[in-house]
Amino acid sequence: AKAEGRGVARRFDPAQFAKAEQRRRDEAEVLRALDNHEFEVYYQPIVDLDGEHTVGVEALVRWRHPERGVLPPGAFLDLAESMGVVPRLGGWVLEQACMQAAEWQRQVPGFELNVNLSASQLGNPDLVDEVRNVLERSGLTPSLLVLELTESVALTDLVESARVLGALKNLGVRIALDDFGTGFSSLSHLAALPVDVVKIDRSFVQAMAETAGASVAEAVLQIARTFDLAPVAEGVEDASQADRLRELECAQAQGYHFAKPMPAQEMTALLQRQSAG
Ligand code: C2E
Ligand code: CA
Ligand code: CA
Ligand code: CA
Repeated sequence: AKAEGRGVARRFDPAQFAKAEQRRRDEAEVLRALDNHEFEVYYQPIVDLDGEHTVGVEALVRWRHPERGVLPPGAFLDLAESMGVVPRLGGWVLEQACMQAAEWQRQVPGFELNVNLSASQLGNPDLVDEVRNVLERSGLTPSLLVLELTESVALTDLVESARVLGALKNLGVRIALDDFGTGFSSLSHLAALPVDVVKIDRSFVQAMAETAGASVAEAVLQIARTFDLAPVAEGVEDASQADRLRELECAQAQGYHFAKPMPAQEMTALLQRQSAG
């Protein structure tokens, strides 16, 4: 059986070969997309729940694929990460978004920009210099830039995270914990990190309709308050969720109920309508 097993492993496997070939093609496509500027930054409004005005945006990367249309990060980010190109892609997203947000800030004073950071970006020794440079080039007010990272990213190496986040905070930017509440084992560790904002994960917002779910959402907001963290609710899809969040005194929210992520031009038009109305 052993000999047979080796034989099987050595035999040419067309399926395996096709998979490896596809992977090589996919990787080449990602590199081509970077060179051809096929990536694009979309923006999703963050609103204040009181007046439902857009107070800022989250930058979300898209791939405008020549044949497959506009692809969400779920379709390419893992591959890009395994290829080691996410720091390069993320640096480009940061640059684009800061330049754009500096323009919007002239239209809407205090307008905030949220940008996502992956683990590989947080581990990139050039990150702090990159952020400092892009703040200078764009003229963006540092405190209006919010860098989002998930708990799992922040807690992978707590000492190193605290050092990098501290250096970023020294530039004047703010830090948000993304998908907050989905990794509760580490609350005491979170208290050690210089965090300003928490993005309440959409699973809690979605569960709010049920009695038990409502108390969980309430508890998560209570924890944010205890740690003096400003909560932003994610994934708000209907008016009743927005109402419940208002009752729970959550100040800001984001979700399809308000607006989906959109290209920069559409966002500019939305802000123009808002300041006209
Ligand atoms: P995330 O940071 O948690 O971003 C929120 C995701 O929820 C976005 O998906 C957004 O389009 C989606 N969303 C917003 N409102 C609603 C809603 O009401 N209902 C539902 N069901 N979904 C909603 P998207 O754009 O596909 O991004 C997925 C993830 O990819 C992001 O999750 C983030 O982790 C990552 N990502 C996106 N852009 C970047 C980037 O520039 N750099 C890095 N490192 N990661 C990024
Ligand atoms: Ca995010
Ligand atoms: Ca999130
Ligand atoms: Ca997420």
